[in-house]
Amino acid sequence: MDVSIEKKLQDLWKIQQIDSKLDNVRALMGELPMEVADLEDEIVGLETRVSHIAEEIKGIEEEISAKKITIKDFQKQIDKYDDQLNNIKNSREFEAITKEKEIAGLEILSAEKKIRELGKMLDVKVEIQTATKDGLESRKKDLDYKKAELTEIEKENEEELTRLGAESEKALSTLEKRLARAYSRIRANMRNGVSVAPIIRGSCGGCFSKIPPQRQSDIRAHFRIIDCEHCGRILVDQSVTGIDAAVAEKEPRTTRRKMKLTAKAED
Ligand SMILES: [Zn+2]
Repeated sequence: MDVSIEKKLQDLWKIQQIDSKLDNVRALMGELPMEVADLEDEIVGLETRVSHIAEEIKGIEEEISAKKITIKDFQKQIDKYDDQLNNIKNSREFEAITKEKEIAGLEILSAEKKIRELGKMLDVKVEIQTATKDGLESRKKDLDYKKAELTEIEKENEEELTRLGAESEKALSTLEKRLARAYSRIRANMRNGVSVAPIIRGSCGGCFSKIPPQRQSDIRAHFRIIDCEHCGRILVDQSVTGIDAAVAEKEPRTTRRKMKLTAKAED
């Protein structure tokens, strides 16, 4: 018994929808691990930064300690000069020791100034360190969320892939062999896996080329199966797809799931 063209188009469209869902799930399965990997990279980067800042802080602290020792040393010298000034023999000696004492005093002032500068630098670094550590912690929490979510979604997706795969195979087997082969061949050649395209605003829903009005009428007439002159996809009209001519391609459940993942991670 000969199957009507309309029925064939409906079957083709049905198979296409199953396969597009399959493609969406597969695409999502590829994207989610990448999101996790990106986050892991970011965490490694932040950890490196935290340890780098810690080293800088240690360096500044060591510099401050060294300056404090310098101050103590010069203070000791000043004490020594004070002792010497108590036992002064002549004015030349007095001037020489006073001069040395002045120099030591200036050294102390300079070291104190440097310590204040280093102290300010230290405050800034500590602030940056705290912020970076906070950022790191929150990214780690995000990662935990995403990993848990990924495991859950992967399990769901595996189940869905199996289900859709079986559904697609079954639907394809009901088509006449020649048509099934044509469908599979076109699908394999298309980067987006779309073999059967709806007419959208007078254009092919696959390659977006304009379809001449006469060809559009022929497609609507269901007299024969008509492909796009530009991309070779099988074209179906609104009576087959049920898609309003003005509505563009829809994105089914995969988008919703991805949004769910993102929303949870950002909580
Ligand atoms: Zn086309």
